[in-house]
Amino acid sequence: MLRRWITALVIAVVLAVPLTASAHEVSDITLTFPQDVAVTSFVDDWLDRRSGGRRHEGNDLMAPKMTEVYAAADGVVIKVSESARAGRYLILEHADGWETYYIHLNDDSPGSDDGEAPWALTLAPGLRVGSEVTAGQLIGYVGDSGNAEGGSPHTHFELHYQGLPLNPHDHLVSAWERAVAALLDVPPPVVNGFYMV
Ligand SMILES: [Zn+2]
Repeated sequence: MLRRWITALVIAVVLAVPLTASAHEVSDITLTFPQDVAVTSFVDDWLDRRSGGRRHEGNDLMAPKMTEVYAAADGVVIKVSESARAGRYLILEHADGWETYYIHLNDDSPGSDDGEAPWALTLAPGLRVGSEVTAGQLIGYVGDSGNAEGGSPHTHFELHYQGLPLNPHDHLVSAWERAVAALLDVPPPVVNGFYMV
């Protein structure tokens, strides 16, 4: 009797574990690289030290001023704003509690560093809070606004999940690799019915 009872208990636990695990499964997101890979460079600078004891909660995507910035995934614009530190920035909300931040967007008039450009030189035409975007869609332009002023132009890119920033580096590297593969996606020559690879 006891043995049968223990067997039933073991079976119940074995059956319950996968159910518990799936209930706590974490969502993931696949990103489209948010800038032209041919002109963008980045390293894993997540949590690098910054002034005032702050830590760097994103990765910097270095690129020339006015390089196009693309939506990293399908989503909705939930914020367009400006602050002393971030400069001009945009936040997209995606499915399942994911968000991406695009910070230090351009605020300079062409050929200047005046910080007085119209927002038409910051955001893609017609983009505003509530706009729906698809992955890879133009959303804005690289700049050096906010505390990036005087440094090299870049997009400070953040990836948030359920309200907390995560290191976006692995997601960005995967996106980078897919973008480069797509650039190089020339079908291999077919010889005698076989692909030569
Ligand atoms: Zn940054």
